[in-house]
Amino acid sequence: MKEYVNTEKLVAMEITVEEAIAELEKRKEFLTAQCDDCWDPAIELALQALKKQVPMTPDVWGDGYADGQPVYDSWACPYCGWTYELDGEDYEYCPHCGQRIRWTEVKQ
Ligand SMILES: [Zn+2]
Repeated sequence: MKEYVNTEKLVAMEITVEEAIAELEKRKEFLTAQCDDCWDPAIELALQALKKQVPMTPDVWGDGYADGQPVYDSWACPYCGWTYELDGEDYEYCPHCGQRIRWTEVKQ
């Protein structure tokens, strides 16, 4: 039987994504200090996945003007650079790579 992720249980572990990243970075540092080839691909993969959960501000731009003011109508994922329309494609996570997007500094 397939087991689904219980996010409430994960939250109950009382560790934030940032703390988990810091913990894994420490383990990675410890391992690589042992020898040149001592590294764990599972740690690398986990770090990559966790870092995408930390919201990043997208690049926003436009090439038109309305009433003399620039109109911003496009954005790019800050992780993979994939581009989207600002109106209607303002996703919480980049559909291309899964990077979490922080909109608070863009939408004011
Ligand atoms: Zn992306």
